Amino acid sequence: DENPEYNVPVAVKNAVFSKVPTEPLVGKLHLVCASEDCLTDILDLDPAVAETEKFIAFIAGKHLPDGGLSVSHRYGGYQFGFWSDQLGDGRAHILGEYVNSKGESWQPQLKGSGETPYSRFGDGRAVLRSSIREMIASEACHHLGIPTTRAAALVVSDDHKVWRDKSYTGHARQERAAIVARIAPAWYRIGSLEILLKRQEPELLRKLVDHIIQHYFAQIDSNDEDKYVKWFDEVAHKNLDMVATWQGFGFTHGVLNTDNVSLLGLTIDYGPYGFIDHYYEHHVPNTSDDMGRYAFNKQPDIVLWNLDKLAAAMEPLLSEEQRQKIADIRGTLGEYVERKVLHTYLLKLGIKDSSDGDETLVQDLLQLMQQTMADFTCTFRQLAEVTPKDLKNNLLEKHWSLKKISEAKNWPTWVNRYQERLEKETVTEEERRSRMLSANPAYVPRNWIMQEAIADAENNDFEKVRFLLKILRNPFEKNEEAEKRGYSSQPPSWSYGLKLSCSS
Ligand code: AMP
Ligand code: MG
Ligand code: MG
Repeated sequence: DENPEYNVPVAVKNAVFSKVPTEPLVGKLHLVCASEDCLTDILDLDPAVAETEKFIAFIAGKHLPDGGLSVSHRYGGYQFGFWSDQLGDGRAHILGEYVNSKGESWQPQLKGSGETPYSRFGDGRAVLRSSIREMIASEACHHLGIPTTRAAALVVSDDHKVWRDKSYTGHARQERAAIVARIAPAWYRIGSLEILLKRQEPELLRKLVDHIIQHYFAQIDSNDEDKYVKWFDEVAHKNLDMVATWQGFGFTHGVLNTDNVSLLGLTIDYGPYGFIDHYYEHHVPNTSDDMGRYAFNKQPDIVLWNLDKLAAAMEPLLSEEQRQKIADIRGTLGEYVERKVLHTYLLKLGIKDSSDGDETLVQDLLQLMQQTMADFTCTFRQLAEVTPKDLKNNLLEKHWSLKKISEAKNWPTWVNRYQERLEKETVTEEERRSRMLSANPAYVPRNWIMQEAIADAENNDFEKVRFLLKILRNPFEKNEEAEKRGYSSQPPSWSYGLKLSCSS
């Protein structure tokens, strides 16, 4: 964007980025938490720096890195199925690019760092509760094995207040502003291309796609005649692989608009997401999603819908023949993601390759879970922990979620079928169980756990947030203190039906 620096809402033309300065948080600042992994593995920093005033000021948007420049990204998007035109980074600034000691290139980004040309009616800020949710989920998903953007640190101000609507509190009130430092190789979304299509900027569209292919898809030859076809194929499969991992952990994104679907196949923009507690296939964590468009069981289809929008955005770059090639690829994707999701569930059950009847084995288990309101995470975890003998004899006292599911009439039939199926696997019992333990986490960032951590953090007690961040580095390993806190126990009754609004 060649315009002078500005931070007022404006319809931007012919640009992918707008150069815009951050608006730092004012007042007394606190470090809420930092991700040791991000600091050491990505940013080449000693984790001890996180507590320093300089670092905290940096996260608060007060300094640019040496040689750095801050920009906001222009994109559009379909929100809840309807074209919304220009959206863009309304409260985020990308701080250039950092090439680390491993030669990897990363784009640090502040979220909540002030107004930009894309702020529309927003204030450019983020509140503490949503920032904590984004911070924890980004890091937790990474350690679960979900492709995702990362979060390095979170800072809150005692004095910088913003107004938020009543959907969260029951009435309008002020909340403290916070900033999360997020990190990703790049922040491009399907909407990054869509805005260039809809505003008829085909030259820029080509330039951007060429740039993305060259920098983030090294396996595609930039001189290949069919490079755009190959790129679509890659982006599609990356996103479908990603959604299959979501289904395996009971993760519901909540707002799968085309501006929230990454062109690098990363989970992006954690808002009113939810990890399912008691299983319900049509779980909808977002109170604004009246129609259940982004329900848990619809996610694979919604990603496909979004990929159709990607294909549409690429049309100006394609010949008639290439459009047909993309349509042919698109024709295979439904089956691809279905198989991928099935495979994910089979691995959770300790089954490596699928064979006849496996789909019903999985479907029937999910149905039993739904009937009995069994816990998604704990049912699978406990299937990994229980001995086959105890499972067969219904000795489930130590496994509260299995105990629940065993109340279903058809449970013994399912157990028999499962055990027969496992006998066909050519691995030792030991091996199968260790495989299952590494596919089924003990801990996920459940809404109720985060609500407790958030409540304390509102009073500047960050112990729970930091503890969560710590145990979610190893979500597949039981932790004594986490057990004491009930993090893999039945969720408290107050948390039933807990939903989140888009207010953030
Ligand atoms: P989301 O659905 O949260 O990904 O946000 C959709 C759009 O709204 C993006 O363009 C955001 O940058 C923008 N947005 C959300 N909250 C704010 C805010 N408080 N101020 C400015 N823009 C915002
Ligand atoms: Mg302003
Ligand atoms: Mg977004």
